[in-house]
Amino acid sequence: MSLVRRQQAKDKWYLPGIFKGMGLTFGKMVKNLTVGRKRMPTLNYPEEKYEYSPRFKGNHVLTVKQDGSLRCTACMLCATNCPAECIRIVAAEHEDPTVEKYPISYEIDILRCVFCGFCEEACPVDAIRMGPEWQTPGVNGSEFVYDIRHLAYRPQLKGGIVSVVDETERHKAGI
Ligand code: SF4
Ligand code: SF4
Repeated sequence: MSLVRRQQAKDKWYLPGIFKGMGLTFGKMVKNLTVGRKRMPTLNYPEEKYEYSPRFKGNHVLTVKQDGSLRCTACMLCATNCPAECIRIVAAEHEDPTVEKYPISYEIDILRCVFCGFCEEACPVDAIRMGPEWQTPGVNGSEFVYDIRHLAYRPQLKGGIVSVVDETERHKAGI
């Protein structure tokens, strides 16, 4: 049995279909430009920006202590847990004997990051968080490798995000 449908007479004329489609498109365009403008599902980016929830896990932030120094202790747990292997840390001895290590370099290649949040979950001292920022503009590759200056002290953070860690919990974690 053949399943090929026989072409009907009305299908042989394609012009009515074209005019019907154009009428539909034109009608939608007029509606969107007039009465339906507020309900359009598209935004005029970058003039109009979508407001995500404050819980949105976007661009990374390295938190700071109350004195403004980095909270990160360069333990490498975030880099070890990162499935995209896009975190690179260079650790150094701290001159303060109560601080074991600190990062002299901390970089995230944001083009490789898959925003899984494992780095944030792995950190025992709340030194890295993912925030509601989601725009990552740049014109060349080097602008997508975020360094300490960007991760902790970019102007949008207004002096950095202060994190206060419970010292009892910190000792329990052995950091
Ligand atoms: S969000 Fe995931 S992929 Fe991105 S830096 Fe953190 S662990 Fe790596
Ligand atoms: S897990 Fe936290 S403390 Fe350890 S290196 Fe990463 S950001 Fe720093």
